[in-house]
Formats: sequence, C-alpha cells, structure tokens
Amino acid sequence: MSVSGDRAASPGAPDPVGGAGRCLVCASVAAPAGRLRQVVAAVTAEDAPPLDLVELRLDALEDPASREEAWLRELVATSRVPLVFTCRPSWEGGDYAGPEEARRRLLERAARAGAGYVDVELRARWSGEAVASFAAPVILSHHWEEPRPEDVAAVVERMLALRPAVAKLVAPAREPVDCLPLLRAGAGLVERGQPATAFCMGEAGRPSRALVAAYGGALTYATSSIAAETPEARPVAPGQWEVGEMREALRIDRWRRGWGCCGLVGHPIGHSLSPRILNAAFAAAGADFGYVPLPGRCLDGVLGLAEGWGFRGLSVTMPFKEEAARRCRSLSREAEVMGAVNTLVAYGDGWRGHNTDGPAVVAALRSAGAVEDRRVVVLGAGGAARAAVVSLVAAGARVVVLNRTPDRARTVAELAGGDTAWGALEDFEGAAEFVVNATPVGMEGGPSAGSEVEGTPVPPGRLVGDEVVLDMVYRPPETPLLRAARERGCTVVSGLEMLVLQAAEQYRLWTGEAAPLDAMRVAAGEGVDEG
Ligand code: NAP
Repeated sequence: MSVSGDRAASPGAPDPVGGAGRCLVCASVAAPAGRLRQVVAAVTAEDAPPLDLVELRLDALEDPASREEAWLRELVATSRVPLVFTCRPSWEGGDYAGPEEARRRLLERAARAGAGYVDVELRARWSGEAVASFAAPVILSHHWEEPRPEDVAAVVERMLALRPAVAKLVAPAREPVDCLPLLRAGAGLVERGQPATAFCMGEAGRPSRALVAAYGGALTYATSSIAAETPEARPVAPGQWEVGEMREALRIDRWRRGWGCCGLVGHPIGHSLSPRILNAAFAAAGADFGYVPLPGRCLDGVLGLAEGWGFRGLSVTMPFKEEAARRCRSLSREAEVMGAVNTLVAYGDGWRGHNTDGPAVVAALRSAGAVEDRRVVVLGAGGAARAAVVSLVAAGARVVVLNRTPDRARTVAELAGGDTAWGALEDFEGAAEFVVNATPVGMEGGPSAGSEVEGTPVPPGRLVGDEVVLDMVYRPPETPLLRAARERGCTVVSGLEMLVLQAAEQYRLWTGEAAPLDAMRVAAGEGVDEG
C-alpha cells in the first residue's frame, strides 16, 4: 500500500491511495531492540485494530546505527503491514545523537530491507538524494518549535521542489487554533498534487490529526494501545488518538477531502459518546461529513479552529453552554429562554445557537404518549432540567420541578413560565403521567440522593406503576430508578434514547436531513458498553 500520488515512488506500491483517496492510519512504535519484533507482531496481529502502516522509531534503540540489513529485514517480514523506518536525530527532537553519515546508511539499509517508507528530515543535508535514490519511498518531514508563516511557506515550496512520496509538517500547538497554519499548509500541498500530512502535536493538536483526513492528507499517526501495553515501550508523541478510537469512533477511513466538519467542544470530553454516535449517523446515511472532538479549556481557542477551518456545526457541552450562547449571532427560541446552547450551526460568518436537549426530552416522552396537558414531574434544576422544562412547557405539558435546593427549582419554574409548579425532592408523590430524572443520581460513580433505594433521586416506592419514567442518566443504561420503575410496571425510557434524540436533532440542523436513528442507537449502545 502506498500513499504516493502522481509520482510512482514506491517499487512495491501498486495501490496509490493518497491525494483524493483515504487517509492511512500509521501507529508509531518505540521499544527496545530485544522486544521490537514482538511488539510489531502484536500490533499488526490479525485480531489487533486494523492499521495501514507501523512507524518504527529506530532512534529509541541503543546504538541504532549498528543494526544490520538482515535484522531490519526480519522486522519487515514480521509485520503484516508496511513499515516506516525513522531515526530522528537530536537536532530534530529525536534521540539519535550519533554521526549523520551512519544514520543515513542505516536508513538506506532499511529502504533496501523492504521498508514501506523511510522518514527523512528535510533539514538533513542528504534529504534530496534520499528522495531521488533510496530504494523505498521517502516521507520528507519537517518539525518546528514555533513556525512563522513565512517559514511554513518556504518549507512548502522546498517540499514541492523535491516531490517526496509524502511531505510531512509537524509543530506543537498550545491552543487548537494554533493548528490552522499547518492544516492550511497540508491542504495547500494536497491541492498542488503533493501527497502530504501536516498536523500539530500535544493535546491542543489532537483534532488536527483527524482533520488531516478532511483535506485529503496521505496519512495520520495514532497510538496502538497494544504497543503502549508492552513493557518498556514508550509513548512516541503526545496528543495521538488511539488506533481503535480513530477507526471506530471517528471512522477516519470514510473521510475524504473537502468534507464538512462538525465537532464537539467542552471540557472534559474524553468519554463523550457523541463522536461515535454522529460519525455512525454520517456513515449510515452516506453523508459527506466527519465529526471530531475539539478538546480545550478555552472556548476562544477551539472556536478559532472551528471558525478558521469552516466547521459546519458544533455540539457544545459543559462548561461552555452559556459562554457559547453569548458568542452566537442568533439563538433559537429555546436557547434564548435558557441562555444556554448545546448546538451551534454555522450561519453566514457567525453561529446560530440551539438547544436540542429539551426537544429530545419531549420527543422521548412522546414515544410513550402525548405530553400536551399531562402532568410531568422533573427532578433536578440544573442545565438539563432547565432545557427539559422550557421545552415541555412550550409543548403544553403541566410541569412540576422538584429539586434538592428548592430555590433553584423556583428559578427554573419562573423561567419556563406557564403554571409551572416547584418544590423539594421530598415533595415527590408520584401521581404524574411522566417523571423525568434530571439529576446525576444513579450515574456510575455518581452521587446518591440518600433515598431509601441506593442511587435513586426519589423513593421509587412512591411510583404508582402507570407513569412513564425517563432517566437522563445513561451510564448505566438501566439505572436503579429505571429498574425499580420497570419492576413496578412503569414504562421506562433510557437516557441513552434521549442522548440519541438530541444528537439526531443536531444532525438535522447541520445536514437538513432526518437522522438515521437505528444506526445511532446501535453506536450509542456499543459505546456505553465499552465504557
Ligand atoms: P447540573 O447542571 O450540574 O445539575 C444537577 C442537578 O442535580 C441539580 O439540580 C442538583 O441539585 C441535582 N443533584 C446533584 N446531586 C444530587 C444529589 N446527590 N441528590 C439530589 N439532587 C442532586 O447537571 P445537568 O447538566 O443538568 O445534568 C444532569 C444529569 O443529566 C447528568 O447526569 C447528565 O449527564 C444528564 N444529562 C443527560 C443527557 C442525555 O442526553 N441523556 C443530556 C443532558 C444531561 P442542586 O441544585 O441542589 O445542586
């Protein structure tokens, strides 16, 4: 498999997939010489998460320059996928501190030994000769500590003059917005017919490793959890995705140049199911969209990247829901009443903010019966309760808000208007058509309300048995409240269904199409099972 474009760089590379093709996933591996074959075999085993390439960091070995061609050949034979050999010198951030000529000879031997690629630094004096004469195609790489725009432009031109199999540009990012110059350089190279990958390192650079696929980048680097578990193996680069995550949650193999990008902003977002659910939706519908988490503690830093890269939409989670609402050019009615958004839609040169949590609660309850003129008890008075109450009142329900801190329940009731009543959790008596838990009580590792049943916000003994009970908590999918309600004969609706429905509304807002709900439910179920 090769990532080369027009230039037929690789003797054994019949399958050019770079440029307009898919982005290959390469796992970086660094381990001591005695364990390297074992790690390569494990990482590329048939039952391991599928990989396209494995990069071996020869500079992590003791005395790498002494490695003979036969030893390198054995490594190649051990791997089920092509190997990329790299021996990063200390002057480019690596561990190799020996003579340059010995390093060059090592990489030449690796190329002869059957390397898929060898990675050579543009700054190496012999880089042009390597591109022209090595027996394997060359990934020509360049790393900056702090790239200035004019430096990036100059490197792009040098890459274009040398035409390697792949041009690779890398720099650290402090904020996600710092990724833009490199992403644009990568996109520019690809547009000019040069297979390339350009991305940023560090946690703030993590989204750029996925966005490579959205400009038609040739390959991206990921962490193999199998390699990471191997004793003495060490992490290669900060901010990498895990291979399985990239393939299963991001579905990076589908992404093509020019696709619409959507994403998730919030902190922390590592365990969010949204990437899995929305990428599954785009895949099931064959939509030209990809969805990527944009981690960051500063909303400006993430919005800067999303705006600069032309994202079509964003999901917004804690702690940015209110702050994001203030950045919108316009707000939906619900978002305006709440002063909080969970969805942004690109709208001209700004954002329109929506809140899909409330409509999702209404839709989830409606699947069990009409809500108009029915009594709905909402437990909790935080952001999710507020969204639910505002939408339920707008849909014509008669709502009672009960909260541990009754004053907050009153604030929510006043915000929603109508004849919304409020009180304390202890006031819960059942006798409602619908009960919605909008507290985190019942969540795995979450708080307990100290009611008579461990992990329920109110005593389930007070349920009559003909209520519809929705628990917003979805880890576990069947909470103690839902289990008790089901045992008493109630109809139960899982928080996972609400999660899917709020994502389905986001999908509709971004694409203008109805979401493929079944595929989203499957993805949500798989995601929650995996933890
Ligand atoms: P939030 O703003 O922090 O509000 C939490 C609410 O729960 C507050 O009213 C709080 O009462 C109450 N609470 C917290 N601990 C409690 C305890 N030990 N006993 C009784 N009440 C307690 O949180 P949120 O954003 O509204 O989210 C609430 C839950 O809904 C979370 O578990 C969240 O994951 C879930 N959620 C699910 C979905 C979905 O799609 N399924 C969507 C949104 C949210 P006080 O006012 O007295 O502090």
